[in-house]
Amino acid sequence: MINTVLGPISKEDLGVTLMHEHIVVDIIGADRGERTYTIEEVVEYVLPYLIEAKNKGCQTIVEATPLGLGRDLDVLVECSKQSGLNIVTCTGAWDGSTVKGLSIPDSIKKMTIDEIANVWTREFEEGIDDTGIKPGYIKLALGDEGEIFPLQEKILRAAARASKKTGMRIQCHIWDASSVPSAIKIIEEENLPYHRFIWVHADGQMDMEKILEFGKKGIWLQFDGIGSVQDFKKYPPAIEKLKEENLIPQLLFGQDSGSFWVKEEKEEWPMRPYARFFQEFVPYCVEEGIEEELIKKIITENSRKVLTVN
Ligand SMILES: [Zn+2]
Repeated sequence: MINTVLGPISKEDLGVTLMHEHIVVDIIGADRGERTYTIEEVVEYVLPYLIEAKNKGCQTIVEATPLGLGRDLDVLVECSKQSGLNIVTCTGAWDGSTVKGLSIPDSIKKMTIDEIANVWTREFEEGIDDTGIKPGYIKLALGDEGEIFPLQEKILRAAARASKKTGMRIQCHIWDASSVPSAIKIIEEENLPYHRFIWVHADGQMDMEKILEFGKKGIWLQFDGIGSVQDFKKYPPAIEKLKEENLIPQLLFGQDSGSFWVKEEKEEWPMRPYARFFQEFVPYCVEEGIEEELIKKIITENSRKVLTVN
């Protein structure tokens, strides 16, 4: 079974799945207090784009926004009901970019590693707060400044321990490939099997040396900048290389698209449509010689495998 915001579904019902999208993201900070928007305004803004993706064949969206970055289950439930898409939510913590703890609630910062692991484990076993909704995976973000800071090490160790207890996989955002070796060292120290770890944004710098090195150890490789790149030139050669190295079974796709932004600046940020994958990326890859069947397999079979919790 796989947990969605409307309850567990059988893995056969997952279908075509985009592994990394956002519906609502709050960059003001984890401890901002009350909602500054209404559920209705987010749904009204995002729904047409969700429906557009569904009409292009998408069946499931893995929503990649943990607590502190704006995870809003009321919004996700409404979006899932109204669009007919499965939506998978997460537990975890986000410390990407240069935010230095801004998006992690103080309550989490004060805890020990095991206390954090227990909170995340409890969300999986009993549901988030009193909603009964369970996360499908653990989302983290760290290492964007070329090193792993103490708070980031703490959340990574907590995620490893929660993963060992629950079977949930860790989707770990790391833009700067030079931080990957340190992250993997921590995973090894925690004795977490490599296949429990997904390198989110492995395509950010497309550092093939590190992609192959750590892919061969057994981690999952997620190409998920597809929604924001100018063009897709870097993808076909990388996919071909993974094919040569028999690493396709560990490849995942997402776009990092969306979203409704909650922020202080007035300037509007454009919506990145969820359908781009189907409308632009797939045709481009096919034109460049990548078989459509292969892409289909990645977004169905690989996604299903990585989201199934044993
Ligand atoms: Zn993201």
